[in-house]
Amino acid sequence: MAYNSAMNSSKYDLVVIGAGSGGVRAARIAASHGARVAICEESRVGGTCVIRGCVPKKLLVYASEFAGQFADSAGFGWQLPEAPVFSWPDLIVAKDAEIDRLNAVYHRLLADAGVALFEGRARLIDAHTVEVAGQQLSSERILIAVGGRPWRPEIPGGELAISSDEAFHLPTLPQRVVIQGGGYIALEFAGIFNGLGAEVTVVYRGDRVLRGFDEDVRQAVEDGLRGRGVGIELGVSVAALQASSSGAGVVAELSDGRALTADAVMMATGRVPYTWDLGLDAVGLEVGERGELAVDDDHRTAVPSIFAVGDVTDRVNLTPVALMEGHAFADKQFAGLDRPMDHANVPAAVFSQPPVGTVGLSEQAARAAGHRVKVFKSRFTPMKYTLAGRAEKALMKLVVDADSDRVLGVHAVGPDAPEMLQGFAVAVRAGLTKADFDRTVGIHPTAAEELVTLRQPV
Ligand code: NDP
Repeated sequence: MAYNSAMNSSKYDLVVIGAGSGGVRAARIAASHGARVAICEESRVGGTCVIRGCVPKKLLVYASEFAGQFADSAGFGWQLPEAPVFSWPDLIVAKDAEIDRLNAVYHRLLADAGVALFEGRARLIDAHTVEVAGQQLSSERILIAVGGRPWRPEIPGGELAISSDEAFHLPTLPQRVVIQGGGYIALEFAGIFNGLGAEVTVVYRGDRVLRGFDEDVRQAVEDGLRGRGVGIELGVSVAALQASSSGAGVVAELSDGRALTADAVMMATGRVPYTWDLGLDAVGLEVGERGELAVDDDHRTAVPSIFAVGDVTDRVNLTPVALMEGHAFADKQFAGLDRPMDHANVPAAVFSQPPVGTVGLSEQAARAAGHRVKVFKSRFTPMKYTLAGRAEKALMKLVVDADSDRVLGVHAVGPDAPEMLQGFAVAVRAGLTKADFDRTVGIHPTAAEELVTLRQPV
């Protein structure tokens, strides 16, 4: 059913602010339903994920994994004639070319969908008007999809630190890196820099990295990182930064009085919704404590014509969630299709080394929610590591509701864990039971088969 544009007198049926994952998806789907759509972007089309997030990060992860693969190959009979040499500038040039290609693909997708692109900073003028690049766009509906920005605590010398935004564009590979934080970005970059040959220290205020994840996952990741040579300082923070006396590096003073000298200090201390200077005052919209916009189940803000999706709403800050929210918003508003967005059981991956794949409840969250749980788990040496002589162990864990037999959570740490978890996310979403898992034949020899062959609760 095509959307009937003639019913409103505005120039557009939808103006989207922010051409990232959620905004572009919403714009394209709305246009496909017949809506007249404009999208505004102040930086590069593609947003955080494509330009300075998931995509370049994963390319850097791939680059960094080769070092371990070169080393492991000796156990399989390979002799490298010379030690492989890595060039950071070559990697960055190649990565940038791929990002440019994807940016062009996004431009083409918008153009092919008939979406008008306005490049510049957009601000709300009133509940139906957006100002961008010196023009005023009037619209029946407005979608705010501006995403988030890195946040860092204010400390003396804080300006000497970089965030992930700058890490993608360093002119040279830093030889010593201090990373503050124990979440996704900290651990992913710890693996990247470590794999590429830097000496890495993670400084985390908590007692175990990856707060909120299953405790066994947290421990397995910490063990794996340490085993691969990443230093982890727990229970401390970076209190201040100053340029080193040689002028070539940065000295990070820790809260316990110690000091670490590095070529780069990276703050990976979270991201916050990018809601400042958006003109929210003009429409009477207030933001929450972290700067987020509150929305209802239809992604509608307190102003009926203004909607928001993605990280700016600070619900589940993951690209596929923003995509689904943007899609659901456009289907509902421009085709009358009700596709409620369920933020439970969203699978996630941390591309640390070793990587994590997870869906559903951790053992601790399941118990806290009142479930009587049965836990099935296995820690084992992945087959590929046997000849390679690696000591690192993978983890596979199922959290099962003892009363209903329903599988509440699936957690994996080890090679290919993120790839593995997508299929298991379907099983958890479908509400399958442990008996269903038991009835499923394993694929041999894989690590994933452990998840259907675990028999003894621990
Ligand atoms: P996270 O929230 O994952 O981690 C932030 C870390 O910084 C936590 O360890 C937190 O500690 C610590 N921290 C926060 N405030 C302070 C402070 N004042 N002093 C010291 N430490 C502090 O954020 P990230 O920046 O890593 O990533 C942002 C979000 O982006 C993620 O939450 C995720 O939603 C998304 N993302 C997803 C990826 C993926 O899907 N693979 C990859 C990268 C990002 P504490 O735990 O104690 O609060």
